[in-house]
Formats: sequence, C-alpha cells, structure tokens
Amino acid sequence: MKLVEVKEGKTKFLAPEMDENLNFPPSGAPVFFNKRMELNRDTTILMLKCLDAESYLDAMSATGVRGIRVFNECGINATVNDKSSGAIPLLEYNRDTYAPVLEITNRDANAIMHERRFDAVDIDPFGTPAPFLNAAAGCAKKYLFITATDTAPLCGSHLKAGIRRYFARPINNEYHSEMGLRILLGYAVREIVKYDRGVEPLFSFAREHFVRIYLKLSYGAGKADKAISSIGYIHQCKKCPYRTEQKGLLAETHTCPECGEKLTAAGPLWLGAVSRTDIIDEMLTKINQSKTESEPMFGTAPKIEKLLNTCRNELETSTFYDYHVLSRYWKVSPVAIDTVIERLKDAGYRASRVHYAGTGIKTDAPLDEIRKVLT
Ligand code: SAM
Repeated sequence: MKLVEVKEGKTKFLAPEMDENLNFPPSGAPVFFNKRMELNRDTTILMLKCLDAESYLDAMSATGVRGIRVFNECGINATVNDKSSGAIPLLEYNRDTYAPVLEITNRDANAIMHERRFDAVDIDPFGTPAPFLNAAAGCAKKYLFITATDTAPLCGSHLKAGIRRYFARPINNEYHSEMGLRILLGYAVREIVKYDRGVEPLFSFAREHFVRIYLKLSYGAGKADKAISSIGYIHQCKKCPYRTEQKGLLAETHTCPECGEKLTAAGPLWLGAVSRTDIIDEMLTKINQSKTESEPMFGTAPKIEKLLNTCRNELETSTFYDYHVLSRYWKVSPVAIDTVIERLKDAGYRASRVHYAGTGIKTDAPLDEIRKVLT
C-alpha cells in the first residue's frame, strides 16, 4: 500500500494513494480512503461546529480522517475505532503525527457502542448502517450521524435487500433518492424510539452514491411518541403522477382520484421535515465565516454552500416531481425549471427546486395546476 500525505480542511493525515482514474485506493489496500467523501466529511465538521458535543466516536474510522479532523478543527475529544487490525498501524501513525491525544480503539463497532457512551456518534460503514443502529441508539447521548452507501436497496432498485435491511418497502421511481433518505430516517427512528428516546433530523441529504443524516436525540416516551407520529406511507399511482401521504403505522388502501387505479404504498418511512432551517442557517454562517480565514477550512465550500441553500429552500413535502417526467407524461416540451417554478408561484402555490435532482420540483399545487403551467 503506497501512502501519501493528504490535506483536508485544516488537517493533514496519511492515506492510501488514490487510483487517479477511479479515485479509490487500489483494491486490496488494507485501509479504506475515498477522497470523494470529502464533502460528506466537511459537513460533519460544519455540523459539529454548530452543536454542543464534547465527545465524538468515529465508530468506523479507517484512516481516522474524520475523527482527526473533528479533534483538530472542532476541538472535540475524538475516539477513532475500527474493527480491522490492518487499520491500526496507520491510525497510530496519524495520531502520533497529527493529533496526539486522539483515542484509538480496535473493536467491533457494536461492542464499543454497547459499552461506552459519547455525545456524538458517527456511523460510516461499507454499505448499510442498519446492523449498527440499535447499539448506536443507546451509545449516542445527544447526536447520531449516519452515512448509508447502499442506495440501491434504500431506493428500491434492490427491493428484497431493502426490505430485509430496513423493514420497509420503497418504490423505485423518479423521486427514489428522497424515498431512500426517508426510509433510512424511518428505520433510524424505529431503532431509537424503542429506548423511549426522541429523534429529530437536523440536516439530511442524498448525493451521488450516499445518504447522510444528522440526528438530534432526546429522552422521554412522549418525545419518542412524537417522532413516531411522523412515520407513515406514501401512496403512489402506477399509471399517473398522483401520490398522497398517510401518517400512521398501518398502511391504508387508497384509490387514485385522477385515474381510479389502486395506489401502491411505500414505507413505513419518515414524513416529517428532513432538516431544520435554523441549523442550515448556522451552517451557512459558519461557511461564510470560514472564507475570511487565511487558510481554507472546507475544500468543498462552494458545493456545500449550494447544497445548503437548496436544502434551505426545499418545501417540506415528502416527495418531488421530476418535471421532465411530467412533461413526457403530458406530451409537452419542457420549459426552463425556473419558469415552471415562477408560474406555480404566480398561480398562488409554493414551489421550490430540490437537492435530489436538477429537474426536481416540490410544490403544494395539485396535479391539475401543475399540468396547466407545463402545457
Ligand atoms: N469513516 C471513514 C472515512 O471517512 O474515511 C471511512 C470508513 S470505511 C467506509 C468503513 C470502515 O469500517 C472500514 O475501515 C472497515 O474496516 C470498518 N468496519 C467494517 N465493519 C466494522 C465493524 N463491525 N466495526 C468496526 N469497524 C468496521
């Protein structure tokens, strides 16, 4: 394994050299590092700068980059854990060279999370986080951060795997990325509320091959019940673009009011807000402040700023329309997305872009009104 010194944020560390074309360390490298997850890690630093965490567990740390950055850039006591003994020499080198008081543990993530507690816990596995969320729900005192890279099961293109992992049924359609994010949120809520704990998403997004969610946890059966009240189903028509949502754990049977078809239920999933605007505002403020620093703090700042601004303005509907899909359905040529949004607003409805897709629109306008502005 050829190692190179990498700089991310204000932090230097040693990592396996990336393959120039694939952007991945060569297969067989004993320690994992993916430069393309820099934006994911930058949001972690930005988020922790807005929160009151004093201890942080990077439960699956590989090179330790996330924990080292949290320690260096947020001043938070960080513990970096990895089950693989092959990761430990590099973690030790990185600690000794770049972050002297970092704690290193070589445990199965579930074992350490059952034994110890941390203010903030970060789960960043290969693929699904599902096997780790039970232990993480007890381990995290205040905040739980989760990455999932198994977008195919989450979004419905590997349906059976999605059902096995998340005990929920997604539908693979034009808003599958939002559905996957909401299935993950719904599953995390299910794992947390059984401990009589409340849960509230602070910031969630889907990008490329991953979903990232930042959760605030609280205590009390009442708070848990409140979280459960945001769980439910999306009912989607197979024949036309009509969809509706239904809260509650029991999937009801619905018929499409547009075409009379029986609707298909997706879920159970999270129907509430996926982010808090006050947190996004704080993250935007921190990004702006970082621009005045002599040394750049976030390598992905322009991309994060764009993401945060789009998420900030996204309507709180649980699905979005792809207006190209709608245009094909109504057999019209699509106009510019900003024109569609303006027309919807002029007609008295709320409308926004989405971060999930460049052609996605969220609106509270009924289908008839959307058709009028598109045709
Ligand atoms: N967080 C890292 C980063 O930002 O670069 C990347 C982590 S990588 C995707 C996943 C890591 O989880 C690997 O290093 C792997 O050895 C470790 N891992 C897999 N299963 C684990 C388990 N059950 N307990 C602890 N670590 C585990």
